Amino acid sequence: MSRYGVNVQKFVVISNPEEAIEAAKSLNATEFVVKAQLHAGGRGKGTFSSGLKGGVHVTKDIEEVKFLCEQMLGHRLVTKQTPIEGILVKKVMVAQSFGEILQENYFAIVLDRNYNGPVMVASPEGGVDIEHVAMRAPEKIYKEPINLATGPKQEQTSRLARLLNFQGEQVEEAQKQMLFLYKLFLETDATQLEVNPFGLTPYGKIVCFDAKITFDDNAYFRQKFIFGMRDTGDSRENEAEKYGLNYVSLKGNIGCMVNGAGLAMATMDLIKLNGGEPANFLDLGGGVNEENVGNALKILIKDKNVSSIFLNIFGGIVNCSVVANGVLRACRFQSVIPPITLRLKGTNEMEAKRLLSQSGFNLKLFENMDEASISAIKDAYCSGNASCVI
Ligand code: GDP
Ligand code: MG
Repeated sequence: MSRYGVNVQKFVVISNPEEAIEAAKSLNATEFVVKAQLHAGGRGKGTFSSGLKGGVHVTKDIEEVKFLCEQMLGHRLVTKQTPIEGILVKKVMVAQSFGEILQENYFAIVLDRNYNGPVMVASPEGGVDIEHVAMRAPEKIYKEPINLATGPKQEQTSRLARLLNFQGEQVEEAQKQMLFLYKLFLETDATQLEVNPFGLTPYGKIVCFDAKITFDDNAYFRQKFIFGMRDTGDSRENEAEKYGLNYVSLKGNIGCMVNGAGLAMATMDLIKLNGGEPANFLDLGGGVNEENVGNALKILIKDKNVSSIFLNIFGGIVNCSVVANGVLRACRFQSVIPPITLRLKGTNEMEAKRLLSQSGFNLKLFENMDEASISAIKDAYCSGNASCVI
């Protein structure tokens, strides 16, 4: 953000409390902010598994910076936006504080279908959840649609700055910050940029104290720098990303490998309907080859949460025997393999079935998606007990 001229605090990100004192000293500040780093908002009002209340703390005491880092790092933070068990905090930001935030505003740029383009959204009621403001006082949320050909107009940023109650020189300063944020939004292929608080310091500086930015996945190829910073926090998702797979970790124990997002969703629904829990969403996509089938399956095999695997493939453009060879390629290199159930339909399915049934691996083949899902669920929950009822 600072690269684009946006005012942010000086900061250091640490992953070990031992680094806290040095990090704080390097900032040359009289007051510090310690913030838990995780992919969820509402940190300020969150609670840690260590008992510490709040994922954002301001202090002048350098020893307290260390204490706070100890209470945050390696503990789970529960906020309104995390799962109920919270998210493990592996990184903490130690930043310089500008003192009290005199005005906490909200400023965002979002893509809005109603305007067919980006819209600036601002509210003087920042700091708290904007959703609540939208419900409680929608008249305090102001919007300015941006013309992509011209960018935000001077009168638009000026109107918003005044509605945010900025005074005198602050108006121009706020306008500048809005333009910098718009440039960042455009050039980084963001789809949403939210600054909350967009705050005013006692010295009259307008600072982005917290930001949430969403980037368009399709821009991956030209936003290598941004995507290089990606931290899903989940080693399976990181691994899947390396192979270009559409993969999302879930909480269950049935590993799913499917081609096509629609079929992947249907497969997960079916597993749920029949009493199971999917361990992941995995869409192999269109350009399926043996290697990525093998890599995808290896991720599922290595996943300790996965007790059984369900492959549901519709061979349209996808050749089922390519999938079968990919499966065998992965199985050959693994010593322990969870039970695998497959349902393959379409292009070259006969050849695929021949390859799989002659492979010597214990692969269960089904014609019907429903029966296949039940078999995978039984494998996951009944560990081979034939009389087990799910
Ligand atoms: P969020 O709760 O995840 O949105 O985290 P924020 O970074 O927005 O922090 C929550 C609240 O803590 C803000 O609304 C501010 O009131 C306060 N806060 C955050 N950063 C600073 C800071 O640098 N200085 C001061 N004084 N307060 C801060
Ligand atoms: Mg915030």
